[in-house]
Amino acid sequence: MTTDSAPSIPSADGAEASAATAAPAAALPAEVDAIVIGGGPAGLTAALYLARFRRSVVLLDAAQSRLSKIPRTHNYPGFAEGVTGTSLLAMLREQTLRYPVHSVTAQVRTVQRHGSGFEVGWADGSVRARQVLLATGVTDIPPAMPYVLEALRAGVLRYCPVCDGYEVIDQAVGVIADGEAGVGEALYLRHFTPHVTLFMEQGAAALDAAARRRLTEAGIACADEPIDGIRHWEDRITVRHGARETVCDSLYCALGLDIHTALAQQLGAQVDDDGYLVIDRHHATTVPGLWAAGDVSQGLNQITVAMAGGAMAASAMHRQL
Ligand SMILES: Cc1cc2nc3c(=O)[nH]c(=O)nc-3n(C[C@H](O)[C@H](O)[C@H](O)COP(=O)(O)OP(=O)(O)OC[C@H]3O[C@@H](n4cnc5c(N)ncnc54)[C@H](O)[C@@H]3O)c2cc1C
Repeated sequence: MTTDSAPSIPSADGAEASAATAAPAAALPAEVDAIVIGGGPAGLTAALYLARFRRSVVLLDAAQSRLSKIPRTHNYPGFAEGVTGTSLLAMLREQTLRYPVHSVTAQVRTVQRHGSGFEVGWADGSVRARQVLLATGVTDIPPAMPYVLEALRAGVLRYCPVCDGYEVIDQAVGVIADGEAGVGEALYLRHFTPHVTLFMEQGAAALDAAARRRLTEAGIACADEPIDGIRHWEDRITVRHGARETVCDSLYCALGLDIHTALAQQLGAQVDDDGYLVIDRHHATTVPGLWAAGDVSQGLNQITVAMAGGAMAASAMHRQL
């Protein structure tokens, strides 16, 4: 377990400057008003709101935010030149940790009922609270290729056409898929560029005639052979399929998401057909006292939506405390 005090401060271009003067880390109390699990935009916003509502808060985070994987976002309002994910994350942490939030870097393993509240446990600690917010996000399932992180950082491997479809206008774009979901993503991208090719993973079920017809009608190419290999080279990606190679400016990955609902499911929280936590308009899950915000819950997987969810959940939690 690491108990954090002061975060590092990002400079405008994303490089991290020296940390703010570190305050001594306060000892973790046995019980607080609220526990926030997940320190991405949803969890950090919720912790900020709760602290400003003068609630005692523990923020537990395994430090794997999707935000940290964004080379530069251009659809997050307020930054006309865009902002790198690492910079934005550091700024959010800096703001939140100016308040008396107990921030712990740890992977939470258990969330159990304790009286009318909860006990949350990790490898070498535990804490109790009346309310718990899950802001645990999702993980994108990566393609089987070397140097995935490097390709992501270079902006040639992409996961989210809602986020950056604008950046690939008229480019040669590939979509790597293992099923019908890839057809939907390819059709979505066709709005941005006429040069879209769908590639299927090895072992993927063949597309049915209706799906193939939709692709053809939209002018989307579908590679005949499954992918044998992918190579990132000089800011382009080469996809090898059978005896052929296709070079793409960007490759979108439509291989699905691992949605981090396991902790909520320990308590029997309901998930929807897509695997997201079911929430009401205040971001309450189906388990009383357990809330959810951000990518782990129903809604659009976007930074602004995660923040809005964190704010709404924290406000409702404060009213119930
Ligand atoms: C490559 C890429 C580009 C993107 N571009 C954009 C964009 O341009 N615009 C946009 O709006 N969105 C973009 N997104 C999406 C955006 O990053 C997410 O919507 C946003 O980060 C979701 O915030 P969150 O707080 O719900 O989850 P996250 O930011 O993923 O944070 C979840 C946190 O919870 C932690 N966690 C999970 N399980 C546990 C546990 N058991 N114990 C403790 N901690 C745990 C994780 O380690 C992580 O730190 C992009 C995503 C990717 C991958």
